[in-house]
Amino acid sequence: MNVLVINCGSSSLKYQLFDMTNESVLAKGLVERIGLEGAKLSHRPAKKDKYEVETEIPNHEKAIELVLKALVDSEHGVIDSMEKINAIGHRVVHGGEDFSGSVFIDEKVMKALNDNISLAPLHNPPNIMGIEACKKLMPNVPQVGVFDTAFHQTIPKHAFLYGIPYEYYQKYKIRKYGFHGTSHKYVAQRAAAMLRTPLEKLKLITCHLGNGASICAVEGGKSVETSMGFTPLEGLMMGTRSGDIDPAIVSYLMEKEGWSMEEATDFFNKRCGVLGISGVSSDFRDIESAADEGNERAQLALERFAHMVKKYIGSYVAIMNGVDAIVFTAGLGENSAEMRYEICKSLTYLGLEIDRDKNFTRGVEADVSTDDSKVRVLVIPTNEELMIARDTYDIVTKL
Ligand code: ADP
Repeated sequence: MNVLVINCGSSSLKYQLFDMTNESVLAKGLVERIGLEGAKLSHRPAKKDKYEVETEIPNHEKAIELVLKALVDSEHGVIDSMEKINAIGHRVVHGGEDFSGSVFIDEKVMKALNDNISLAPLHNPPNIMGIEACKKLMPNVPQVGVFDTAFHQTIPKHAFLYGIPYEYYQKYKIRKYGFHGTSHKYVAQRAAAMLRTPLEKLKLITCHLGNGASICAVEGGKSVETSMGFTPLEGLMMGTRSGDIDPAIVSYLMEKEGWSMEEATDFFNKRCGVLGISGVSSDFRDIESAADEGNERAQLALERFAHMVKKYIGSYVAIMNGVDAIVFTAGLGENSAEMRYEICKSLTYLGLEIDRDKNFTRGVEADVSTDDSKVRVLVIPTNEELMIARDTYDIVTKL
């Protein structure tokens, strides 16, 4: 069975076609600049040369049409007809309180997705557009929605509520939802496999440190706390997002700078984080290089980032009353030995000891703690697409 995984952003679309008999990737690719000038499809078949087309791509439907054409193309394709796509799995950012797992997409689910738009106005509309375009182009192929929020629906009420009147939770659904759930779940499962211990018996802290970053406390396989909140703006400082701040800063700055609500939202999402502190870049590679060359603000941005991660790890150890392993994943977590070391060197009070030699690894699964360390430190490359393909396969084969 072949499963096409689709991740639609506002102007981009990422895809991977999996052969689920052995979970291999037949092809993957990216459509960029949808609706803009210079739109492009980059298609990478597993055993053939990379193929790129620059053409007008006014909307997501056209983007998916191009992807399908590339997949069945006699020269660059990997399947001989569209009939070989047996199911489609979509990444959906916000499932609100309606979804605690992945679902087969029917009319009722579409309605719930549309009802949740106000919770994720930037993310959910392109996800919905992708689903609608697939329905139009492949009406008979079953589609599954896999939600970034679903894994965190096990967080207990006392942890997901904010300190505001309860009526606002009831009226507007204001609460912590958490994101990156598919990634946290995937690395937690891999961690259990690496530790040869059932997930149900483990206390894990999973650190997804990429351009967007979040941390999750996973107890017995369930998310019990996570750093992102009502939106992906809360928690760690990120590439361009502020993360936790005193909420009074918002109105204070709006008054001082004369900003509208929209300008303020844009500011905290796009001009803050490590970009704002370093003044160099939102990309951690640029910041690490600048810091190496003596740029003090770049150094400060890295130090504050590590400080935030340590704060969250400490609080999650307290919440779970212990931790068996700390997992690092995503761009920075998988690749930056320096950042992992910087974070772990303050955790020796837990009996955690990082092995400096083993830690010089990147992009592969590894246990980078010393043999004596009481807490394991694991590097696990995330694979959200495979997780989406697995959920889609499981749901569709039971239909
Ligand atoms: P997202 O999916 O949120 O865009 P990624 O997981 O791809 O994020 O992570 C992107 C971040 O990871 C970037 O800030 C990038 O600089 C950082 N990163 C990638 N490789 C390295 C590396 N070798 N060293 C340090 N940071 C890295």
